[in-house]
Amino acid sequence: MPPVPAADPTQPRSERESHRGALFVENVSVSFDGFKALNDLTLYVDHGELRCLIGPNGAGKTTLMDVITGKTRPDTGQVFFGDRVDLLRLSEAQIAEIGIGRKFQKPTVFERLSVRENLVLALKQDRRVRATLRARLTGAERDRMDEAAVLIGLADARDRPAGALSHGQKQWLEIGMLLLQEPHLMLIDEPVAGMTRGEIERTAELLQALAGQRSVVVVEHDMEFVRSIARRVTVLHQGRVLAEGSMAQIQSDPRVIEVYLGE
Ligand code: ADP
Ligand code: MG
Repeated sequence: MPPVPAADPTQPRSERESHRGALFVENVSVSFDGFKALNDLTLYVDHGELRCLIGPNGAGKTTLMDVITGKTRPDTGQVFFGDRVDLLRLSEAQIAEIGIGRKFQKPTVFERLSVRENLVLALKQDRRVRATLRARLTGAERDRMDEAAVLIGLADARDRPAGALSHGQKQWLEIGMLLLQEPHLMLIDEPVAGMTRGEIERTAELLQALAGQRSVVVVEHDMEFVRSIARRVTVLHQGRVLAEGSMAQIQSDPRVIEVYLGE
């Protein structure tokens, strides 16, 4: 990657324009009690890209997602969404509203509600559970919900309580709920942890289907899974980008083998 010159937040930068960029993270540092969780990190994600983020524990992957979603404020650096939206000026809620969705590692579906009801709540983005579930769906909303249910492989499980789903199905349901909020960028932290091999393969298909129309950044440790979906892979180490490229490039990079793959 070419060196990044000092940034002027009022001007769309030439690098930004040349990257059909969805997300620009530039020279970001985050310290916790003097420890640099992110250390001058620069990363670009293009529109429609499916990016895998890997790296040893403590590399800063979750902290990076916290910075993008406004949960953690960096000490230095810039974070832009598209060419002009300065994410560091927005609240966590505003960042979600403009279309950056995040899925945490642990599924947080409403276990006692059905798959359909969970999807309705996500669709309406309304926290008043009872009123929302009683509200009528428009034809378009029903179509979107049906499409999401098919995409996540739960079309036949729509009336089942979410609590009765397998761990993998709950993860898919949550991805479906995230999808109904129509994010432009989805951040997904370790989706396949705890899944069966069959579920992992289905998840690979799902994430590939999601990218393209939106950007997807996925953090994952399961290298077989990463290999099956990887286009561009970024390796974080000690709060920095250690390497970036195709899976073949990453796997043959001696620095990556030393700090991560060789474990
Ligand atoms: P990863 O997700 O790659 O495993 P994290 O981003 O969770 O790494 O953590 C990076 C480093 O920052 C770790 O050493 C972690 O202990 C530290 N860290 C993360 N969050 C905090 C926090 N809120 N307070 C103190 N240290 C933190
Ligand atoms: Mg993490």
